[in-house]
Amino acid sequence: MKSRICPQCISEMDKISHPDITIDRCSKCGGTFLDKGELNVLSTGMAGDIEHFSTRKEVLSDDHPSRSCPNPSCAEKTMKKVNILGCTGVILDYCDNCEGFFADKDEIQLLNEEEFVFLTKGKSAEEFREYINGHLVRSDRISDVIEIATGIHGATVPQNVNYIQISVYFKTPLKLDLRIYSEKLMHKFLKVIGFFRKQDIKTGNEKVDSLFIIQGNNEENVKSLLSKLDVQDQLIEFQQRKFRILKKRGAFEITDKRIVYTEGPYTGDVKYDVAEDRVGVVGGMLGLVRVFET
Ligand SMILES: [Zn+2]
Ligand SMILES: [Zn+2]
Repeated sequence: MKSRICPQCISEMDKISHPDITIDRCSKCGGTFLDKGELNVLSTGMAGDIEHFSTRKEVLSDDHPSRSCPNPSCAEKTMKKVNILGCTGVILDYCDNCEGFFADKDEIQLLNEEEFVFLTKGKSAEEFREYINGHLVRSDRISDVIEIATGIHGATVPQNVNYIQISVYFKTPLKLDLRIYSEKLMHKFLKVIGFFRKQDIKTGNEKVDSLFIIQGNNEENVKSLLSKLDVQDQLIEFQQRKFRILKKRGAFEITDKRIVYTEGPYTGDVKYDVAEDRVGVVGGMLGLVRVFET
C-alpha cells in the first residue's frame, strides 16, 4: 500500500502494525490517521461504537487549522472537528467522506490520560469510600451500554451492563507517569495509540514482562522502582492469584495515583461489600501499594 502524507507536516506516514489493523503514523510529528472502524477496534472493550457516538454531534472548532484528509480517495477533502464521545473534550479531525480520524501528538496524549477510560463508561456510582491504613479505598459500580449480537443478520441490541471497580490510592502520587496493566480488557487502545509518548518498558524479569505492559515517562526511575524484588514478587503474586469477586476474571492497572481493579461486564446489578471483602482483593491491593511505597 502506498504511504499516506501527513496533513500536519506533509511528510510520509509509516504503517504501524497491530494484530488486528494497520494504522498510519507520522514519524515527524506523531500524528496518527485511523481509517473507519480502526478507532473502534483499538478501543475494544472500552465502550460500544465510539466512532458513532463521536460523530453524531454538530461540528466544533479547536486551536488547529482545518486539515485535509490524508486518504488518497478523498482528494484532500477538509476534515471536521469532532468531540470524542461527544463529551470528553478531546477534539479530533474527522473526514465525513471516508469516516477516518486524525489525531495529533497532543490529542493522543489527551486520549491517553487516565480518566479517559472512565469517561467512556456510563455514570458510576460510588458505593464505598474509606481510609484503610492511610490509603483511600473506593468501590464504584460503573454502568455502560454495550451492543450484543443477536445472531440475526449481524443485528445487535443494546444491553445495560455493570462493572465492579475497586481503587486503592497511594498516599503520595508516584510522579512517574506510570501505567502498568495486564494485556486484557480495555487498554488495547491505549497501548497502540499511546506509545508515542510512553514506550513499553522491560524490567528484565521475564515473568513480569510477560504478564504486564509497563509504561512511564522516565524509564530509569520506573526500572529502578520495578527492580526491587518484593515489588516484582507482589506484582506476579497479585496477578496470579486471579482474583474474582463474582464470576468473571477482572483486570487491574497501576497508575501514579492508584491501583484499580475492574471486573465485568455483568448484565445484572452487582454489589461488592468492601467492608467484608471475603475474596481479599482489597488486602492484596493494599499489600501491593505498600511495596511500591517503601
Ligand atoms: Zn506529521
Ligand atoms: Zn477521508
